[in-house]
Amino acid sequence: MPDEQLDLTLDHYQDLALTTWKRTPGDQVDDLAYLALGLNGEAGEVAEHIKKRLRHGKEIDRDAIKHELGDLLWYAAVMAHELGFSLEDVAADNIAKLRARYPGGFVQRWGGNGR
Ligand SMILES: [Mg+2]
Repeated sequence: MPDEQLDLTLDHYQDLALTTWKRTPGDQVDDLAYLALGLNGEAGEVAEHIKKRLRHGKEIDRDAIKHELGDLLWYAAVMAHELGFSLEDVAADNIAKLRARYPGGFVQRWGGNGR
């Protein structure tokens, strides 16, 4: 549980995340590569937790995965900014894509239980 209760929108989160971002001098591609590698690394850390569950029978550490998802969100927020997008732009674009792909919603379309 966070120490303070934040009233976060995606764009507010992005603003806060950017307070801990520092560009490197030179080509922006270097920063984009760093951010892309970071996204991939954090996704790998999430996968590592699931791997430990599958292979070693460890309990799913939800809090640890939550932290890794936050790390992933940081990289996504900064990369979106570097590409000229707000995080809410990215989220809205994703929802539009999902609505186009699954106009009735995934659960209704497939009749599943949402899992
Ligand atoms: Mg991490």
